[in-house]
Amino acid sequence: MSEKKGKLPLKDAAAHNRRALSILWKNDRQYVIFLILQGTAAALTPYIPLYFTARLVNELAGSRDPARLWQWLVILLISSSAAALITAAVHRRYWALLEASYTNWNGLLAKKLLDMDFCDVDDPATQALLDQIEQNNSWAGWGFNRAANNFSDLVDAVFRILGAVALSVSLFTMPVPQDSPLAWLNHPGCLAGILGLLLAAVIVSPMLYTKGHSYWAKYDGALGNRVWNFFAYIAMAERQRGTDIRIYQQDEFFRLKADDPACQSFFPNSSIGRAGRGPMGLLMAGSTAVSRVFTGAVYLFVGLKALGGAFGAGSVTQYVGALAGLAEGMTGLLSTLGEMRENAEFLQPAYQFLDTPNNMYQGSLTTEKRSDRKYEIEFRDVSFRYPGTDAWALRHVSMKFRIGERLAVVGENGSGKTTFIKLLCRLYDPTEGEILLNGIDIRKYRYDNYLDLFSVVFQDFRLLAQPLGQNVAAAIEYDRERAAECLKRAGFADRLAELPKGLDTCLYRDFEDDGVEISGGEAQKIALARVLYQDAPFIVLDEPTAALDPEAEAEVYTRFNDIVEDKTAIYISHRLSSCRFCDEIAVFDHGRVVQQGTHDRLVSALGGKYQTLWEAQAQYYQKKEQEAAPI
Ligand code: ADP
Repeated sequence: MSEKKGKLPLKDAAAHNRRALSILWKNDRQYVIFLILQGTAAALTPYIPLYFTARLVNELAGSRDPARLWQWLVILLISSSAAALITAAVHRRYWALLEASYTNWNGLLAKKLLDMDFCDVDDPATQALLDQIEQNNSWAGWGFNRAANNFSDLVDAVFRILGAVALSVSLFTMPVPQDSPLAWLNHPGCLAGILGLLLAAVIVSPMLYTKGHSYWAKYDGALGNRVWNFFAYIAMAERQRGTDIRIYQQDEFFRLKADDPACQSFFPNSSIGRAGRGPMGLLMAGSTAVSRVFTGAVYLFVGLKALGGAFGAGSVTQYVGALAGLAEGMTGLLSTLGEMRENAEFLQPAYQFLDTPNNMYQGSLTTEKRSDRKYEIEFRDVSFRYPGTDAWALRHVSMKFRIGERLAVVGENGSGKTTFIKLLCRLYDPTEGEILLNGIDIRKYRYDNYLDLFSVVFQDFRLLAQPLGQNVAAAIEYDRERAAECLKRAGFADRLAELPKGLDTCLYRDFEDDGVEISGGEAQKIALARVLYQDAPFIVLDEPTAALDPEAEAEVYTRFNDIVEDKTAIYISHRLSSCRFCDEIAVFDHGRVVQQGTHDRLVSALGGKYQTLWEAQAQYYQKKEQEAAPI
């Protein structure tokens, strides 16, 4: 059981809760209104029958006037039914809005993620923060959703108290007649005694409750919950894992996890289970016991006063009910305030995430839409380190791309090729040096405008389980003819003709029964069609063909070379044979450009990196060819 830090100062806790309310209000005003209505209705509805039943019983036990009896009966029935109906209607709407509020909250996180600088999205610390928010919520509803519930509980408690006070004031103001043997109940000491008990009950009971409940806040079951979720649902349900799990009989791990103390959040012997049987259980039981003792004392006091003749029998239920409501309301108020303070700590990671600043400078220059596509990009002595690391991923890279050129970036894994592309697309800014577009630092351009210049197929590109045409256009509304033409140019025409719904065929079966499963090669052709559809002046292919064999990769690159026309194309590959046709090849090694030139020039530079790589890979191809040759 990992202990969390101490509680937040009250001021900070209040500020965190206030901010949660203002976020709620900004996102969905109707929800906040119904949150208040729900709390109010839940608190006041029980008091209506309580009050009118008391009037009815008093009449029954008193003068028994039939007209009055009817009057109270009708009022009781109508008011109780109306209150119950209103409460039900409010409740229904509240629950519908509550469901939507979960989605709204996730939407807020998603929006922030989309607006964030990519370097922050890519930062493991951001992912850890998101995980923490998610785990807090799924573990015990801590965080934003709990804050919303707390507001509703707070409103409930306040109205419960107000209603109770209104219904119980007369208990203390109506005296027992002086000639009654119970007239001593009028003594101020009795009143003080009962108020003292009330005070003790409403302070001690919630105090014990909050103390008991704090075991939940201190108990960090998030890891266990996460492991449980992973092994119980995710790992087993994921199709891609199915083969591994069977071949390597990984069900062994699943059984082992059941014995792992970190995963025993839900087991009787977990620390929270032991706390439940020990101090936490005692505190919770103590809290209930104190409030029950108070209720007993109230029954005695009210019963004796009625016996002494201070009021009718009907009022007994009213006062007992009202005082019980008062204690409940006070307990609710204090325990909700306690919970809000505990929850404030769980709101912190959410705010830390939402407050992540966008540090990348955003310029305002527009990139002119040039019909001659005369764009020139220059890397001028660029060096780059990933945030939080000491190693240079790129070092002193200087390079110019002239329009219409085919540039290849080659090098071994980890030599900095993808990093180079990430900088080119301004997913990160250089740590040193600058990147220029037509002589101007790319930071000075509007980012969305600058991005429009690029179409990229990243190594780990992903298609969506949506219709094929929408995947190609990366949009919901699109030009069907153009999408079909791009698919054709990308070599997907035959497959497209076979698809029953053509461009409307859904990829994968995640959402549609008649979706199609596509192979890695087909996915890659669709990704290429997407690049063509965008018609951007710069096209980047970052080893999108890694899943293909060398011959298939070479074919794709050659076909692509034919269709990129006047655009500038940048190919990244660790297979040198695929890039032979390029005008210029840049060889990366440990983050530096160690050679640059045409294939013929580089391959003849004996002892150079390119030539060494070429020899190593050529040997591999020759060996394969020899093995395949008939004996
Ligand atoms: P390549 O594309 O040539 O395989 P990369 O550009 O992906 O190489 O990686 C260059 C170097 O940067 C490697 O040492 C790699 O470990 C490191 N690197 C890549 N991505 C990150 C990241 N997000 N955070 C920290 N280091 C990274």
